[in-house]
Amino acid sequence: MDGPRFEAADSAMIAVRHLTKRFGTAESSVVALSDIGFSISEGELVVVVGPSGCGKSTLLRILAGLLPGSQGEVLLHGTSVTGPRRDIGVVFQAPVLFPWRSVLGNALLPVDVQRLGRDRLRGRAMELLKLVGLQGFEHRYPWELSGGMQQRVALVRALIHDPALLLMDEPFGALDAMTREQMNQELQRIWMERRKTVLFITHSIGEAVYLADRVLVMTPRPGRIADELKIDLPRPRGLDVMTTPGFGAYVKRIRNGLHASGGIE
Ligand code: ADP
Ligand code: MG
Repeated sequence: MDGPRFEAADSAMIAVRHLTKRFGTAESSVVALSDIGFSISEGELVVVVGPSGCGKSTLLRILAGLLPGSQGEVLLHGTSVTGPRRDIGVVFQAPVLFPWRSVLGNALLPVDVQRLGRDRLRGRAMELLKLVGLQGFEHRYPWELSGGMQQRVALVRALIHDPALLLMDEPFGALDAMTREQMNQELQRIWMERRKTVLFITHSIGEAVYLADRVLVMTPRPGRIADELKIDLPRPRGLDVMTTPGFGAYVKRIRNGLHASGGIE
């Protein structure tokens, strides 16, 4: 069982307690998550890092209310998450934009789906598109955009309801390395401006250290949280922070932790 370090505090904005997830039948089942516990405070940017298949997406889907846990609980502001909620925004690895909708139309998709007035949120969509650097692209279509730009549209869509919590599942994983670094810088800027509570998932140790206030290290089979570390690097962090000894020391500690637990073969 996890030690007290990983227990969720009562005052936390999001609290995960003894969360376990099994897939399959009673005869043959896979334990994807085992006794996961952590909490996130208001305004914190927490990154979960772990190798492919360790249960990161499963964890995110449970937090988003898209999948039930087998045991344990997830609390947002003290209330149990039992289904999708408007106060949680989600960005997935693939931007999943509708090709027949413009940038603005895609950003406003949740508004249309829930039949809310477009007028009220149109201004907000325009403001968010500006925030992510897509001013002037409102009437373009997804096929006219680069992968990075498409993911920015997905980010605007996740932010349209001004969610209390933003969940991001390897959102920049499909981008080339340079665009990815740029997107990480952008995300940091947006986060510093808006102070959203963010849970970001990645398999990249460097990305985790660059972005995080705190990193949770996940190890596989069954997925559990093996380490937790606070990243004390001043912000805003430029990309050159990645070549500093402090940054390297964090990367080394995470890598060693994953090796020790068999997380990296
Ligand atoms: P990650 O996102 O870290 O790569 P996932 O959460 O996608 O990992 O998967 C964790 C484990 O759970 C894997 O072994 C995967 O095969 C299994 N798994 C995920 N979703 C399902 C499902 N719907 N049914 C059965 N097994 C699943
Ligand atoms: Mg995944």
